[in-house]
Amino acid sequence: MKFKKLLIVFGFVAALCSCREREDYSKTVFASFYSVYDFASRIAGDKYKVINITPNGMEPHDFEPSARSIVDICNSAGLLVNGLGMESWTENLPKEAKDKIFTVTENIPTMKINGIVDQHVWLNPENAIIEMENIKNYFVKLDENNTDYYEANFINEKNKFEELTKQIEEQVKLYKIKQIVVSHAAFGYMCDRFGLEQIYINGLEPEEEPSAKTIEEIIDAVNEYNINTVYTEELVSPEIAKKLAEETKAKTDVLYTLEGLEEEMIGKEDYISLMKKNFEKIGKSNL
Ligand SMILES: [Zn+2]
Repeated sequence: MKFKKLLIVFGFVAALCSCREREDYSKTVFASFYSVYDFASRIAGDKYKVINITPNGMEPHDFEPSARSIVDICNSAGLLVNGLGMESWTENLPKEAKDKIFTVTENIPTMKINGIVDQHVWLNPENAIIEMENIKNYFVKLDENNTDYYEANFINEKNKFEELTKQIEEQVKLYKIKQIVVSHAAFGYMCDRFGLEQIYINGLEPEEEPSAKTIEEIIDAVNEYNINTVYTEELVSPEIAKKLAEETKAKTDVLYTLEGLEEEMIGKEDYISLMKKNFEKIGKSNL
């Protein structure tokens, strides 16, 4: 009797395992974090399922995949990454998973901050268009029969992003103050494109501790440029920015880096809506 029970349990576990193995990821593409996911979803449409591998609410700079996720990557059609040092976790993947990687930022000119390549290229919507073109070429190669479909999706999205770029240009023309103070130096490409300047508290990695000198320089800048808002970001502890805001009487607000969305934003917001919100917020405090 006992043996029979054991057999049943064993059978159940075996069935569960084989069932899991049969989970079909051949029409799934993984994206390393939110902006890559957003762009890939726009191009893939209903031909491939796109899954953001960084859980909602998690800061992608700190992400480590689970063993299960690594197996899923191996069974998937591919893993789309930003590259430029954003996904250091991919260095430790087994070869089978590494072979699935496609870097979406090719042909985008990069800038450096303190001698390190700035990874946050996607915050310039024109770079987002280049990423989507790379992603489009990726899907065309993966699924040649649907070439026209991916080409059409790309053109459609390109138009939307060009429209967004124009709208932002018009808004920024009205800004009296061209400087923004941010906690995490994610906005270099965005500022460079639209003639703004980011004054940052932390460096490229959100957890970096700023030096006393940095804080002093920022206080000076806040006073010099008459800045009334210090921007934190959605997934990082806003402690330092809050402290700084207290010392300078500036208030704090959130600017979206598009590295990840909070749970309640899923399905309601996307790259375009959040970029618009970013510039509405900057507009309010910089007019
Ligand atoms: Zn970042």
